[in-house]
Amino acid sequence: MEWFQETLHPAIRQTLKVDEVLHREQTALQDLIIFRNPTFGRVMALDGIVQTTEGDEFIYHEMLAHVPILAVKAVQGRAAKGRVNKVLIVGGGDGGCIREVLKHKNLVCTMVEIDPGVIELSRKHLPNHHAGAFDNKRAKIVIADGAKFVKETAERYDVIIIDSTDPVGPGAVLFTEEFYADCKRCLASGGVLVTQNGVPFLQGPELQSSVAAFKKLFREGTCYLAVVPTYNGGFMALGWASDNLKLRKAPLAKIARLYKAAKLDTKYFTPELFHAAFALPNFVRKLVDGIKAKKLARGRR
Ligand code: SAM
Repeated sequence: MEWFQETLHPAIRQTLKVDEVLHREQTALQDLIIFRNPTFGRVMALDGIVQTTEGDEFIYHEMLAHVPILAVKAVQGRAAKGRVNKVLIVGGGDGGCIREVLKHKNLVCTMVEIDPGVIELSRKHLPNHHAGAFDNKRAKIVIADGAKFVKETAERYDVIIIDSTDPVGPGAVLFTEEFYADCKRCLASGGVLVTQNGVPFLQGPELQSSVAAFKKLFREGTCYLAVVPTYNGGFMALGWASDNLKLRKAPLAKIARLYKAAKLDTKYFTPELFHAAFALPNFVRKLVDGIKAKKLARGRR
């Protein structure tokens, strides 16, 4: 294989040069390939869709982990000593998200991944992603369908992170209102749910339906943005749902203090980005405000 062609969008094909295929197999659930690309290093794709690369994963994982955790830390009252105790990740089999979450001391993180093959092959072929986080004593790795897990668990989490595939195959259920309602059920009071929610320019309806569900279930539903080069199509949206309206308004000075105290050593995330990422361009604002995505598309052509 000389070139890998992504098959996510009907009219757009992101193509990446393959210097070497490190591993390819049909796991119990997905067609998995890990290959080396001269620009992005090791790349993992599932069912023809780029999931993560060594070159740009830091952007996505830092924003997925540090924005919600610092927000809850900043707003948690004295009683909770500004602490986040429990974080749940659904998906995240490459290990990049749990690596960033566990940079915060004093918290424990449960990661619920449906496909053991993804973890096993990431352990072997994506060492810089997980950086040993799967074996951290504050990590609990559960092999299960995240939708079933949040429906049944008795645990309550301060932060829930959905680091899933796109709404295809096993990931489709993770974009439903029922799933978000079950996530709300196991969210501790004052906590927040954040979600991988696609690229609004190309996947507007996906973001729109998630935020519409958030607004039905929570006091606040919106998204924040980051640009991940191999998530083709511009901004990547990370969904945000909470009953705690103070979280997003956490003072910059407090976020900066907590960021410094946690020694997070980030390559993308900064305290200033904490607020800036929620400043939405109009076409995304309209999606979040529920203006029909289709209408937007017509306008653009
Ligand atoms: N960052 C990537 C993206 O934005 O596309 C996601 C990376 S991560 C590898 C996605 C993980 O979600 C995969 O390992 C996949 O097996 C897992 N997954 C998909 N559906 C799931 C489900 N229902 N429950 C738990 N994990 C699931």
